[in-house]
Amino acid sequence: MEDTTGGVSLPSGPDAKKRRVSYFYEPTIGDYYYGQGHPMKPHRIRMAHNLIVHYSLHRRMEISRPFPAGPEDIRRFHSDDYVDFLSSVTPETLHDHTHSRHLKRFNVGEDCPVFDGLFGFCQSSAGGSIGAAVKLNRGDADIALNWAGGLHHAKKGEASGFCYVNDIVLGILELLKVHRQNYIILQVLSFINWILSSSVSLFISNISIKTPNLLYSELEAIIVVVVNDFRLSDAPNITGQRVLYVDIDVHHGDGVEEAFFTTDRVMTVSFHKFGEFFPGTGHLKDIGVERGKYYALNVPLNDGMDDETFRGLFRPIIQKVMEVYQPDAVVLQCGADSLSGDRLGCFNLSVKGHADCLRFLRSFNVPLMVLGGGGYTIRNVARCWCYETAVAVGVEPENKLPYNEYYEYFGPDYTLHVEPSNMENQNSPKDLEKMRNMLLEQLSRIQHTPSVQFQASPPITQVPAEVEEDMDQRSKPRIWNGEDYGSESEEDEKPRHHSSNIDDQPVANSGTREDVKKLTCCPDASIALFFWVKKA
Ligand SMILES: [Zn+2]
Repeated sequence: MEDTTGGVSLPSGPDAKKRRVSYFYEPTIGDYYYGQGHPMKPHRIRMAHNLIVHYSLHRRMEISRPFPAGPEDIRRFHSDDYVDFLSSVTPETLHDHTHSRHLKRFNVGEDCPVFDGLFGFCQSSAGGSIGAAVKLNRGDADIALNWAGGLHHAKKGEASGFCYVNDIVLGILELLKVHRQNYIILQVLSFINWILSSSVSLFISNISIKTPNLLYSELEAIIVVVVNDFRLSDAPNITGQRVLYVDIDVHHGDGVEEAFFTTDRVMTVSFHKFGEFFPGTGHLKDIGVERGKYYALNVPLNDGMDDETFRGLFRPIIQKVMEVYQPDAVVLQCGADSLSGDRLGCFNLSVKGHADCLRFLRSFNVPLMVLGGGGYTIRNVARCWCYETAVAVGVEPENKLPYNEYYEYFGPDYTLHVEPSNMENQNSPKDLEKMRNMLLEQLSRIQHTPSVQFQASPPITQVPAEVEEDMDQRSKPRIWNGEDYGSESEEDEKPRHHSSNIDDQPVANSGTREDVKKLTCCPDASIALFFWVKKA
């Protein structure tokens, strides 16, 4: 390992600024098993961790074992009935009357099977991303990594594409909470200004409230202003956080885009294969709606994207996004199914080309959360996330792999890097240039950071009433055709738990249970403002 600097955090990147890196890892994550032949293998996270430890990268980071996210934490995005289902269903109770009638509705079955410990798996994945956000919010880390996160397809009320709980949305909601107190105070001041400057009707109520210093009998009147369905996205953007989400998984980041499609507080940018490919969304012209218009960006691509063409799109687009949006925090989903030779993917990126996205985002020196995602040729996923951990801490690891518990997976070369294949790049330079220009043009329509104007009448965005639909008739697109790939047979085996004192090393907890309790907050809610007039 080339290392001339030493220390826990290392200077790197054009600004030569040190980065404090926090890494979340649940030692039991590799034991979860989706089932025979299923391409999603949590074991790959343990393999990546094993490489990270054998390269001694863990000495350069703070290591935390995530608190499992509780049902209440998960309900901040997901619907109650869906969370109730996930937390109670087991392979044994799957066909009980209480559960079986929900399977279609929650899209559980083929791509997203019910396996042993399913909810525990979701809790660890989400707990890592929420914990990562807490670290960044407190300023305790510059970069926070959670390779068990990045499950970008999960929807509010249904599983999709091997994802059940959207840890990314939960992590972003946590990031948005920073400066919330100052934000609420400014909110109240803005409201007072607004009330003074416009003719609005106030609700005068004789609600009894007790405050520590003021008795009800001393009050002449209480004025209560209630704004229902007050949403952060409708709020005057004075000190509110802006979070940029970037997704380099080969599949479109649909669950995250959907969650923040109507808001300018989160900008989503997804680079993905488009056209007869799961999940089918992510068209160039999908740019967000209402207040979120221009705050969703989609880069639809064809098979065979290589390092050079990917970099030629990624860097200029992200450079422009950083200039116009100026996010307070960035979340990067590093789905490794965009690597060359992926079992489900169709791009041709090398590990270095993939990691260049992280290297570039890191250079902006904005708090950065780095998550996993897809990735189905698991030896390459482990290589990629190990190398990206090295990029995060700022070292260049040797190409020759150190001996590790899963050494036999990495033959015949036993190297960290793998060569891309000679597959054809079906993205023509001309088309890519045209698309890059269109996207830069779209970005230039955001000339400044999101509006600071306060609207006299806070728009209340109503979610359209759900159309009654026969859920049993609806066919869901699949991410995987169910084929078992013989060549990957070794990877299909239920992972043996390699007993290793490295895997079993105790990892520090990320805080106290109280810290996790404090995370619980409702980002979109009714807001009630109380004003009172004291008796003379
Ligand atoms: Zn994917």
